[in-house]
Amino acid sequence: MQAELIFTGTELLLGEILNTHAQYLGQRLTALGIEPVLHTTVGDQGDRLAAVIAQALNRSDLIIITGGLGPTTDDLTKDIVAEVLGLPMVLDEPSLDRIREFFRRRGTEMPEIMVRQAYFPAGSRVLPNPRGTAPGALLEKDGRFLVLLPGPPGEVRAIFEGSVEPFLLQLGVSGTVSRSKILKVCGISEAMVQGLLKDLGGRGNPGIAYLARPGEVHIRITARAPGWAAAEEKVAELAAKVQERVAGYLFGTGEEELEEVVGQLLLQNRLTIALAESCTGGLIGSRLTSVPGSSAYFLGGVVAYDNRVKESVLGVPKGLLETYGAVSAETAVAMAKGARGVLQADLGLGVTGIAGPAGGTAEKPVGLVYIALAVPGGVDCRRFLFPGERPGVRWGASNAALMMVKDYCRKLEEGTKA
Ligand code: ATP
Repeated sequence: MQAELIFTGTELLLGEILNTHAQYLGQRLTALGIEPVLHTTVGDQGDRLAAVIAQALNRSDLIIITGGLGPTTDDLTKDIVAEVLGLPMVLDEPSLDRIREFFRRRGTEMPEIMVRQAYFPAGSRVLPNPRGTAPGALLEKDGRFLVLLPGPPGEVRAIFEGSVEPFLLQLGVSGTVSRSKILKVCGISEAMVQGLLKDLGGRGNPGIAYLARPGEVHIRITARAPGWAAAEEKVAELAAKVQERVAGYLFGTGEEELEEVVGQLLLQNRLTIALAESCTGGLIGSRLTSVPGSSAYFLGGVVAYDNRVKESVLGVPKGLLETYGAVSAETAVAMAKGARGVLQADLGLGVTGIAGPAGGTAEKPVGLVYIALAVPGGVDCRRFLFPGERPGVRWGASNAALMMVKDYCRKLEEGTKA
């Protein structure tokens, strides 16, 4: 099956927003074994959109149109589709009820204009939108399928994965299906990861690809097979081998973020954490609190950038700072202990380093970071040298710090099990 994608919205043509639907839908369709063959971007002009849809109906099996399902007058997609197909617009009562309910829960009255979102070209299968008020729609015309999706990316994903993908799979349109899995590692360079995995294959089927991100490497394992299950099985088999080789560096899979993994571990082990951040400037706190429910384990943090804050808030001795310097194992340890003590947490994390570009010396170069983790009965301090520029050093430091917490929690769990 071949697919043609039509993106609507003048803002796309003017370059005001990036067309991320093209990337997302391209990947999802390819994974389903459907070949995307043509992209068109049209502004919010009815006649141009009508012409593009009419052409698409003459040449493509699957046509996906994004955007223009909103309630305002520049949201034209459904009306134009109805016009091109010669269909009347009909009210879908369940959709109207859902939109009314959406406003009722917010405690406001539904603006009358919203009724437009409950009208569809006759014969449409309505695709529920769990993330917004504009449902999608699916139409069939002479064996060709037209899928209408809204504009906001979260809504596109929700409708595509919730309704369109199951429909296409059930239709049995897939040719060779491609599946993939991402394993995320940190504390190791891309080249070293490749070295560890080189005998497991490269661009074959299944294949391994490497994506370097600041402070972390993503390993994508992809397999193609005649069916979904067969492709998944191939991926799982290779992923298990890869996982074994990179176990010490692995922090998550797929969409999983390190802060979520760490949060889950702190929760499981009933531990609280406090931070003393210098060169990361609150980045670790920001990452930890980006996870819903983090108040159960994250007590707070001190951004101790200036030495006076290290001394006065965290109790780092002035003499220690003078003897060893702000960027030293001794200071990191004192910061970690200070945060743990001041905030009365189970764990205290102290991070101090040189993020650059200025401030480095031969002895203490840019990228040098000391991270200490104070735990009940002790403190572990490690020295890191992160490559790259300021954002990379800061991100790398936040990753390394979170990995130390992760490793501590995992060891604790292993100890409990043993
Ligand atoms: P709304 O109800 O929000 O008006 P809609 O279905 O009418 O939704 P549009 O108005 O076309 O959709 O787009 C809404 C927003 O979705 C845009 O402002 C833009 O931020 C985002 N968007 C639309 N198309 C794309 C695209 N191709 N790639 C990325 N973002 C997009």
